Amino acid sequence: VEETRKSPFPAEVVRGGPEAGDQAAPLARQERHAIGVDLGGTQLRVALVDSGGRVLALERVRSDQLQSRDELIQRMRTLVEQVRSPQTEAIGVGIPGSINRHQGLVLGIPAFPGWSGVPLAGLLQDSAHLPVYLENDANVAALGEWWAGAGMGSANVAYVTISTGIGAGIICDGRLMRGFGGLAGEIGHTRITDNSPVCSCGQIGCFEAVASGRALERKVAEAVAQYPGSILATVATGDAPGPEHLTEAVRRGDSRAKDILEEEAVLLGIGFTNLQHSFSPERIVVGGGVSALLPLMRQTIEHAMKIRLLAGFSPAQLRVAELGDAAGVIGAAQLALEEVSEAGSSD
Ligand SMILES: [Zn+2]
Repeated sequence: VEETRKSPFPAEVVRGGPEAGDQAAPLARQERHAIGVDLGGTQLRVALVDSGGRVLALERVRSDQLQSRDELIQRMRTLVEQVRSPQTEAIGVGIPGSINRHQGLVLGIPAFPGWSGVPLAGLLQDSAHLPVYLENDANVAALGEWWAGAGMGSANVAYVTISTGIGAGIICDGRLMRGFGGLAGEIGHTRITDNSPVCSCGQIGCFEAVASGRALERKVAEAVAQYPGSILATVATGDAPGPEHLTEAVRRGDSRAKDILEEEAVLLGIGFTNLQHSFSPERIVVGGGVSALLPLMRQTIEHAMKIRLLAGFSPAQLRVAELGDAAGVIGAAQLALEEVSEAGSSD
């Protein structure tokens, strides 16, 4: 194991060659393993992943039902041991908040109290005796989709996750863009309108305030209250309205549902235009619950982009994320493999 850890890691393997994601390739060809940890607002996922981006073992628990920070850390340690293989080289952890990567510190997690200044990398390293690397959750999901999903094969990929909020991870010129303090990619809080409810950040007009899954839910709820006899009201009864209700209502010809979807598509087109003017991605990979609506919105999004993009730009290819919930653990594991290789080669 020590020898493998020291060997330089060929970049084309990390970046996902033609074999990456090919389920038929024999496992023996991907002998390097790492563990990816994805701490989400509702689920904690821990997976053993090989250098081809394949998930070999996966454990998950509800993170929102664990009582305390220490309980969450203890559960991470237990799950790491459960999925671990003899050739595991390192652990990567995706954190839904701010971190100091170099010190392995969690600076804060909006969804969980008590995480300010927690030396998580050191705590996991002490029990697992493996190098541990922290990264922002949107960044690890972007890395996952780039290495083994819808971003494979391009050196310029913007991954945008649209669920409760809107986050992004940017791959620019074949590298993850981190920016000063690791804070790059907060596209959800770029301003795209003067007219919106107050955003989760306290400001007005953010991309997230008008185009996130939560914003969609609010619009559906308002339409249902206003038109209780509509098809939309009929399909969106019961639990919280989701993309599937909107899809069903559009399919059955509900005009309010079509308007909501049309408005969402235009807003996404404006947000994506800002992304393209800033980073010029070749591909925009859309993840999160709202990505299920992408096929219905694609034409309008592309049109909204075309009429706004400067001369010389053409709309980036829009792709639905392919790895689903596994993007974070795969990206975190691949990040860990790359970091441990770089550390080994600089010895
Ligand atoms: Zn905001």
